Amino acid sequence: MHPLQFHITHQDNATKARLGTIVTDHGEIQTPVFMPVGTAGTVKAVTQQQLVDLGAEIILSNTYHLYLRPGHQLIRELGGLHSFMSWARPILTDSGGFQVFSISSLRHITEEGVAFRSHLDGSSHFLSPEKAIEIQICLGADLLMAFDECTAYPSDFLITREGMERTLRWARKSKEAFETHKGVSWPHRQWLFGIGQGGIYPELRRECIDRLLDIDFPGYAMGGLSVGEPKNLMYEMVDLSTDRFPVEKPRYLMGVGTPRDLVECIVRGVDMFDCVMPTRNARNGWLFTREGHIVIKNAQYAKDAGPIDPQCQCSVCRRYSRAYLRHLFHANEILSAILNTHHNLYFYLDTIQQIRDAIASRNLLNYVTEFRSKQEIA
Ligand SMILES: [Zn+2]
Repeated sequence: MHPLQFHITHQDNATKARLGTIVTDHGEIQTPVFMPVGTAGTVKAVTQQQLVDLGAEIILSNTYHLYLRPGHQLIRELGGLHSFMSWARPILTDSGGFQVFSISSLRHITEEGVAFRSHLDGSSHFLSPEKAIEIQICLGADLLMAFDECTAYPSDFLITREGMERTLRWARKSKEAFETHKGVSWPHRQWLFGIGQGGIYPELRRECIDRLLDIDFPGYAMGGLSVGEPKNLMYEMVDLSTDRFPVEKPRYLMGVGTPRDLVECIVRGVDMFDCVMPTRNARNGWLFTREGHIVIKNAQYAKDAGPIDPQCQCSVCRRYSRAYLRHLFHANEILSAILNTHHNLYFYLDTIQQIRDAIASRNLLNYVTEFRSKQEIA
């Protein structure tokens, strides 16, 4: 059993923010880190080389989608996901649980797992802790996630507690399956993270974490957040969770969030994030800037010769005008998605880099104060 190396190089004095490095066999990851989402083995509208140029050190890929198409066995036969998609850097895969609960239809939960129908063709499938781990091992991810039940918001206390108890039983099964099957498929090492649930109930969140720690994982995630609950409740759940997690292990907030969320949760001690927001919003013409977001389709940009964000150093902002990007969007041109995605990912990765620099130079609180005055909370 190889422990996951996570070196904390700096702890902020005034907040819970820290700088660290996660070491995998596909390279090091500087934390806090934002992981672009490559749902189906591609971060939509950017090439793998562009991701490298943008400074992405790790991407997330979705177990549910790759299992349904093209299938994890095919990817394994073709050398694993790194080889298949030509991405040499680390990959984290989710467990498929969130997608099963959010986009598949006719799902039926039992103690063994979840029966569901594919959103692609309606075919029947069954995902269990054992199956979710088998798929992720076959894909060859560096960091894997335990299979969990994501409780919807709002859910009452009893329903949420039931989901939390099941999540804990599935976490144990996930770990057993992982310990049994890891290390046989690939020369590189793989690690399994546990996921805390408990909805918006502090006592459930705390209990779930305490019992996850007994099972023992090399890293811990917070799941079931940013699913419709008020922001202040999400921040509260993050705060009490990071107080509970061991200092020396990475903490991952799943599926979050806005630029403001990243900052608010980094000061609350989160190390890892993923979110479709920069990429999905880009395709919808929602562009992030250092002064808040703009909606590029709006008429006010029709004759605007300026860049998306005058403060942005990305290649899109150095070359193209808002007027041109608005035209591409309205004309439904493929280049619209490509350029918008490039800028939004640059913005997210650059924001994270600036936060890391602010932590390193002991200037985080000033940075956060200014950021809060410019970036909306929603
Ligand atoms: Zn830009």
